[in-house]
Amino acid sequence: FDQLDGFIWMNGEFLPWQDAKVHVLTHGLHYASSVFEGERAYGGEIFKLTEHTERLHASAKILGFTIPYSVEEIDEACRTLLRKQGFSDAYVRPVAWRGSEQMGVSAQNNRINLAIAIWQWPSYFDPAQKLKGIRLDIADYRRPDPKTAPSKSKAAGLYMICTISKHAAEAKGYADALMLDWKGDVAEATGANIFFVKDGKLHTPDATNFLDGITRRTVIDLAKRRGIDVIERAIKPEEMEGFEQCFLTGTAAEVTPVAEIGPYRFTVGEITKTLMDDYTAEVHPAHAIAAE
Ligand code: PMP
Repeated sequence: FDQLDGFIWMNGEFLPWQDAKVHVLTHGLHYASSVFEGERAYGGEIFKLTEHTERLHASAKILGFTIPYSVEEIDEACRTLLRKQGFSDAYVRPVAWRGSEQMGVSAQNNRINLAIAIWQWPSYFDPAQKLKGIRLDIADYRRPDPKTAPSKSKAAGLYMICTISKHAAEAKGYADALMLDWKGDVAEATGANIFFVKDGKLHTPDATNFLDGITRRTVIDLAKRRGIDVIERAIKPEEMEGFEQCFLTGTAAEVTPVAEIGPYRFTVGEITKTLMDDYTAEVHPAHAIAAE
């Protein structure tokens, strides 16, 4: 990834892609003092850009630092970089981290850095698998109690157990892993939220212990516009036996049907297909469906 062409916006400058580097003594690398965002551009416009940038600011605040660029400045940098990269559909990755001025757990005076990279990432899961519904393992690691980790921050450190869990699932031939929360209830996949369908209604874990995804909220809104009830509640893993459909939501994953989670099986049904189509329509600026 460090060998691509184009530009990366870093601390106010557009650098040639291969020159956007950090020192090995970067605090963010040693102590995970780093937060990031994942956004998608469709038809030349970044979907819910300001909401993402506000979440980036909020994530940094939770980790105790302030990004030295305003939401407006970051939005503008993202838009300009998208045009400079020349993509109309692309993935946008802002990342903020504590620099290398001081070493040790404490890094009160380290510079806060911000970079933005944009590349083409058409599909998070294998497109053929996605249509049939992907297969998920159940992860050994659990999403931490909000008193154990800053669960509401999109913090790099929270992804350590996600990468371990996703690698373990992939080694067994699965596309991803479902993670439970610290109480043993269903939480989310390693980089996406989860929904189930039963008797025409959507059931999704309430987002108390993990990231309340922007896609999750968009899909809840789309479902409500269709008159589909959405129930946000604690979901026990055994309840998956009685669910008919399942799908993941996330900026990268968009709406991805799930066919299998451990011993449980689901079909790619009408509600899933409708919400996949509604999401596609919603994110494309020219075709956004009007609220009813
Ligand atoms: N949970 C995790 C752990 C994620 O990494 C993501 C992707 N950012 C999501 C949920 C979904 O969030 P969003 O819809 O805002 O992309």
